[in-house]
Amino acid sequence: MTSILDDDIVQIPGMYAVTDDLAIAPLTPVLALGLLNRFKTPLTDLKEKVVIIRDKEEDKAIWSRFLLVRYHNPKIKVLALSKDLLNRDDSRWWRDIVLNDFKEDELGEGFTDWVSCEFKNGYNTLFWHSCWLIDQPLRVSFPHLFVRTINKLCAVSDIVSWNNGVILWNLESIFGTDVSLSPAPNAFNQFPSVMSTVVVEELRDLKALLQGVVPDNLAKDEFRWNLTSNADFKLSSVSILVSNAKELAWSLPIINMLDIIRKITIPAKIKILTWRFFINPLPLKVQLVNRGVSNFTSIDCIFCSTHPESLEHLFYHCHVTKAVWKRIYTWLDDEVKISLEEFKSFGSIQEKKKNINIKATLNTIWIALIWCTWKMRNTIIFDNGLFNFDEVISNIMFFSWRWSCNREPHSRISFYDWYKLPLLCNKTH
Ligand SMILES: [Zn+2]
Repeated sequence: MTSILDDDIVQIPGMYAVTDDLAIAPLTPVLALGLLNRFKTPLTDLKEKVVIIRDKEEDKAIWSRFLLVRYHNPKIKVLALSKDLLNRDDSRWWRDIVLNDFKEDELGEGFTDWVSCEFKNGYNTLFWHSCWLIDQPLRVSFPHLFVRTINKLCAVSDIVSWNNGVILWNLESIFGTDVSLSPAPNAFNQFPSVMSTVVVEELRDLKALLQGVVPDNLAKDEFRWNLTSNADFKLSSVSILVSNAKELAWSLPIINMLDIIRKITIPAKIKILTWRFFINPLPLKVQLVNRGVSNFTSIDCIFCSTHPESLEHLFYHCHVTKAVWKRIYTWLDDEVKISLEEFKSFGSIQEKKKNINIKATLNTIWIALIWCTWKMRNTIIFDNGLFNFDEVISNIMFFSWRWSCNREPHSRISFYDWYKLPLLCNKTH
């Protein structure tokens, strides 16, 4: 791929790799050959493409070109809320966006509701899916008509025609034969059922709405992003929305803890496990039973077999886990300067420890304890393993050491020093 960049950052043409998640990385000839070899792409199948990054005309921008090649018709896919538009070869990334939009739509607000269309010639405005006539898509305002539509993805321009300067809305072309297009008062007799009456009323209202609407054939449709004041799309507007959604879903202390974990240098899967721990969707037996899953021989804790396996029991109240907490607390030595109970509470660590390095070390050890306990529990359940106290303890020490080394790559911590006095490994405390 040859690239021509903006004047500000113009460099020489180069090769770049673009992945499904839209990451662009420079590609050396050696890497490119390696990539071609891996994908077994015949050289004759390759085409040279000139793409322009950050062109002011969006249609020529690399994103537009790339999305067009990869997703065939991204504009329609983004604006239309239809699972029918998902192709088999669409990436998981794309499918996630589209399918999540459905979930959001069920809650009354989705991606498509944040895009409004300034209707001009109607070529890029979807009749049912765009917000063009009123402040919601017509598929929402007229649901009974929408389900009877043959072409759910028609553009506004598809159903407009002109006759001697008079505009005609060819609604016949978008409805099936079961929708009568005769005027509403006469139609009541033809549709005796309640459902039909609703359809007739919707049709009457739709026609009334369309009266006086005249496309501007000389201008292109424009799209506006409703979450910013100047209508330009900004990633920050989505971040703010997500933050607000989090506020609705979780209490402030939980949000703060999730944020702290996000910043800790641990592998992503460990972060996810810890997040799940705090927002409580770990697949513990008591939770699964509440959700109707009941194929267990016993819902008791796999460590002690005497209490139901809940989050509180497994991680805090079980005598087996209590012993793990105590052993790790003893390992921390007097340097820890908080009580065992305070150490067990992630929130208390944030509150009590002011030194950033000590706090980071304690957080890492705390997370390692939760991770290793969960791993041991899963090994017993799914791999018929046996509980091994020493293994859990040494794993907690090892993983917390490894993650701490990642945090401070320049100051090497030897495992021996770590094992002896983990909190003294941070010389700046
Ligand atoms: Zn137990």
